[in-house]
Amino acid sequence: MICRRSRLLVVIRLAHFLGDNASAVQAAAERAWFAISRFYDNCKKNKPGKKGYPRFQHDNRSVEYKTSGWSLHPTKRRVTFTDKKGIGELKLMGKWDIHTYPVKSIKRVRIVRRADGFYIQFCVDVECREDIASTGQEIGLDFGLEYFYTDSNGHHEKAAFGGKLPPKTCRPNPRFLRKAEKQIKHAQRRIYKKQKGKNGRNKARNRYARKHLKISRQRTEHSLLKARHVMQSNDLCVYENLQVKNMVRNHHLAKSINDAGWRQFRSYLEYFAQKYGKMALAVEPHYTSQQCPQCGIMVKKSLSTRTHTCKCGCVLQRDYAAAINILRKGKEKIATSGQGGSKVSSKKKSRNALGS
Ligand SMILES: [Zn+2]
Repeated sequence: MICRRSRLLVVIRLAHFLGDNASAVQAAAERAWFAISRFYDNCKKNKPGKKGYPRFQHDNRSVEYKTSGWSLHPTKRRVTFTDKKGIGELKLMGKWDIHTYPVKSIKRVRIVRRADGFYIQFCVDVECREDIASTGQEIGLDFGLEYFYTDSNGHHEKAAFGGKLPPKTCRPNPRFLRKAEKQIKHAQRRIYKKQKGKNGRNKARNRYARKHLKISRQRTEHSLLKARHVMQSNDLCVYENLQVKNMVRNHHLAKSINDAGWRQFRSYLEYFAQKYGKMALAVEPHYTSQQCPQCGIMVKKSLSTRTHTCKCGCVLQRDYAAAINILRKGKEKIATSGQGGSKVSSKKKSRNALGS
C-alpha cells in the first residue's frame, strides 16, 4: 500500500517537471526508488527510531540528466540541453575546470537553482587521489562551541572571544550565522512589510535567501579549508562520533551547534582522508571529557567547568584533555580491530600526546 502511494507521487512529479526526457526521468526515478528501498530496508531490519518514510518533494529545485539530453559546446564554455524543454543553450560563467576532463567522464549533469541563480553541477568520474608525503603525525580532535576544535597537541582552532588563551591564538570560532543574524532578521522583517503576491515581496524573499546562502557558503569554505589542512599534516585523525541531531535538542545551544557545522567538517575530513590515502576514524564520545588523560581516573565535571584538574597533578584545558582521550581511544580501536594497524603502528607517537 505504502509502496503504491510513493510510486504514484513519483510519477506525478516526473510528469509535471520532466515530461518526456527519458534520461532525466530515469535519474529522478532512481533517486525516488532509492528512498523507497531505504525505507523498506529500515523497516525489515527493525531499525530503532524513525524509518525514513519517503517524503514528497514539493519544492524540488533540481533536474538531473544522465549521459543524454545535453551536450557540451566544443569550447566547453556553453552547454545545450537538447530535450526540447525550452532550456536551450546556456553560457557557463565563473571559474571552473570542466575543460580538463574528457566529456566521456561526465556521468551526470544537474541543474540546480539557488537564490542567486542557476548552477550546473557536473558529476565527473575520475580517480580523485593525491599522494602526499606521510608526516608521521597523529591527531585527536574535540569539537566544541568555545573553539571550533581542539586538537591533541593543545592547539585551539579559532578560539571564541573571551577565551583564556594568549590573544594571538585567540581567534573567534567563526559563528557566521550569529554574525549575520542582525542583517538576516532585518531582511526577514522586510518580507512581512510587503504585500503578499506582489513582486516586491518576491524580491525581499530573494534578498533574505541570498543572505542565508552566503552564510552556508562561508561555512562550507571554512570547513573545507580546515579539513584539508588537518588531513594534509596528519596521517591519522580521530574525532568524536557526535550525534548532532541529539545535541540540537538542547534548545539553549541549538543554534550555536548548528552553526558550528561539525557534520560538514567531518564529512570533509573523511573525503580528504580518502583523497590523500590517510585515515580518519570516529570514536564514541562517551567519557572523553571526564577521564584523566594521564592516569585514567574519571573526573566528573559539568559543561561549565573548563579546566580538567586531577589528583595526579594533571591540569589541562578541558577540550585539550578530551582530544588526547579521543586520540587514545582511536588508537585502541585500531589496535583491537587490527584495521589499518600496520599503517599506524609504525608511526611515532603524537607530539606531547600526554601533555605532562
Ligand atoms: Zn589523573
